Amino acid sequence: MTNGNASSGDWEGRYFHVDQILDRPGPRTDPSFLAGEEVKDFLRNKCKILVIGAGGLGCEILANLALSGFKDIHVIDMDTIDISNLNRQFLFRQKDVGQPKAIVAAEFIMNRIPGVKVTPYYGKIQDKDDDYYMQFNLVICGLDSVEARRWINATLVNLVDPENPESLKPLIDGGTEGFKGQARVILPTVTSCYECSLDMLNKPTAFPICTIANTPRLPEHCIEWASVLEWPRVHGDQKLDTDDPEHIGWLYSIASARAKEFKIEGVSWSLTQGVVKNIIPAIASTNAIIAASCCNEAFKIATSSAAYLNNYFMLIGTDGVYSYTFEHERREDCPVCGGEALDVSIGKEWTVERLIEMLVEKQDIQIKKPSLSSGAKHIYFQAPPQLEEATRPNLEKMVSELVPDGGEITVTASSLPFSLSLRVKYV
Ligand SMILES: [Zn+2]
Repeated sequence: MTNGNASSGDWEGRYFHVDQILDRPGPRTDPSFLAGEEVKDFLRNKCKILVIGAGGLGCEILANLALSGFKDIHVIDMDTIDISNLNRQFLFRQKDVGQPKAIVAAEFIMNRIPGVKVTPYYGKIQDKDDDYYMQFNLVICGLDSVEARRWINATLVNLVDPENPESLKPLIDGGTEGFKGQARVILPTVTSCYECSLDMLNKPTAFPICTIANTPRLPEHCIEWASVLEWPRVHGDQKLDTDDPEHIGWLYSIASARAKEFKIEGVSWSLTQGVVKNIIPAIASTNAIIAASCCNEAFKIATSSAAYLNNYFMLIGTDGVYSYTFEHERREDCPVCGGEALDVSIGKEWTVERLIEMLVEKQDIQIKKPSLSSGAKHIYFQAPPQLEEATRPNLEKMVSELVPDGGEITVTASSLPFSLSLRVKYV
């Protein structure tokens, strides 16, 4: 077989290998699998898929979907192309720097793979309403933002109408962090959702202070020593600004001297910046594996040609290549798909302000800028300004003065399309 020349129209043989899977059932295909023209017609002419994110994962996802036979693809991304993206976001070229990712990615795919239609939207997922999301059969996310994932997850859970099976939109979520990644299949209201697993997010790595101070072994230890101990000692109250090149330069020289003293190699400007800004480098091969896994699931769900993932795939590439698949279970007290109030135990003397701090930090809640109410009573509201001012005095009050033991507090935040119910117990 000759190599297809993409620019010379829709190459007949492009889907030859995909057709091998779709033309006949295999030993493990679902009984509902309709082999042959019907499934090919659905995949190529009827299935509408939405890709959220056109960055490192998104570029891979778009190319994989288009090459596996999806022909009606939509993509949303709110970013423009930066020069630093070009090493891994392979749909972009130097001339595209400054252009919207969604639009450039869509044009690239359509030029390279004739017959595929990619409809871009340059903007936020929050700009779109329920009617927009209802038109899709499947949604794939290749995002680097927890906030955006929580939003789309809650939106798709809220979209489910038990009377209308079409309203259940499978969500495939891919994520990568350095050499680690995960792909998961979320059937809103059926399987565990993104919010159910919020406590699995990695906390930023922290090094023990005694190691930093006394027995550094890694270049990171020297950088932490410079930023955590030396900066405040030398600069007093002046706050470290991680966007200021002079500040980074100072840390770099201090960390380098420390590294030399302990014969440690590897302190560089970019590592210094990475450590203090908590940047984990993006790895192209991790993106490729996770995107492939997501698209494999999308293909299986769209065609019923094989059983799909149930429901969480993890990749750990830090020491060799290790992967693991398990079923993540739903949480009854998940604020998005569970319906039960979350029990929280707090001290009787806790102020409203302290409760808010806990909501921001607690691993399974993580709500930035929460607003609180109990029944019709406003406890504290972050906005609008008049309401914030009116409820501000409550920050100093004890929660136990405002809410009885076993009472419920409703927590909302403007960034999240759901509310969380807390049942408070005083200890
Ligand atoms: Zn959930």
